Amino acid sequence: VETPEEAATAEEPAPRVKASCSGEPLTVTFYDAGQALASLVTLPDGQRILIDAGEDPARAGCGAACRSWHERVVNGLEHDLDGDDIDLVWITHQHSDHHGGLPGIARGVKIVHYVDNGQSLDKPGVQRARKAAKAAGATLSEVKPGKTAIPLSTSDDVQLAAVVPDTWSTSCEEHPNDCSIGLLVTYCNSTILFTGDGELKAENAWSVEDIDLLQVGHHGSDTSSSIKFITKIKPDYAVISCGRRGEGTNRTYCHPRKSTVERIAQATGGTGSVAVVAFDAERGCRQQENDNWDETVTGDRLWITARDGTVTLTTTGNGDFSRNE
Ligand SMILES: [Zn+2]
Repeated sequence: VETPEEAATAEEPAPRVKASCSGEPLTVTFYDAGQALASLVTLPDGQRILIDAGEDPARAGCGAACRSWHERVVNGLEHDLDGDDIDLVWITHQHSDHHGGLPGIARGVKIVHYVDNGQSLDKPGVQRARKAAKAAGATLSEVKPGKTAIPLSTSDDVQLAAVVPDTWSTSCEEHPNDCSIGLLVTYCNSTILFTGDGELKAENAWSVEDIDLLQVGHHGSDTSSSIKFITKIKPDYAVISCGRRGEGTNRTYCHPRKSTVERIAQATGGTGSVAVVAFDAERGCRQQENDNWDETVTGDRLWITARDGTVTLTTTGNGDFSRNE
């Protein structure tokens, strides 16, 4: 006759959380940055990683929208950092909606490390971002094909990995999204993938699979998040960072796209259903009078900054994420 202990040993599946994992929280905040991206990861050991810095508040033709997007990022960071350093700034690619906010953020914050993809170094916006990082104390380095080391030491239960192709696409100079450098953050059984504005070319060149939380590429555009890619990475949770209908630069981008929202919502599933207004791209995005925005239903594992505002998610390393109230 088996003792109860023996029976339990025989039946018990392998534990989901590794013994070395502390169960301490890791949080990730996607700021309500408009048609831009700025997200802060706070590791269980307290180190902070800023993935992209949001839009340039003075971007031509954007007006008050860009100023308020930037203000939300700066105020949010000031609150969340509460005087701490940013240990790593990770700029996914050289577009102003990803690095343009850094000079404003870097005033009054110490930055330890700064990483970008080393592209477009002659562009004024890139130079401004690098200069601001340097002035805030950062060491500058590049992550690109063949050079994937990340200049940040983490505790044993956290791994950071650069997601880059074997070689750059020849289209990078003309189309910087194609050279987005992805970041994979693994904390015990929880994995988060930041994709920047990587589109189909990047997605096809990245070797990454089966993640938990996805920063949906290119603000929910339909040039990203292919069925092939989503099937490969199988996200359980996802966040789209995008502007509202008709707001600032989103007048001409019309993010998020309806087909992408539907695809991601289907992949993540979840219960509950909340409507989001998404653009149906059949007739193209025009600056004026487009009424191609429809309500699309999503489950409760997909968050969209245009609907939900700033989104902060927490995981204890068990693969699950929940939104902080
Ligand atoms: Zn972008």
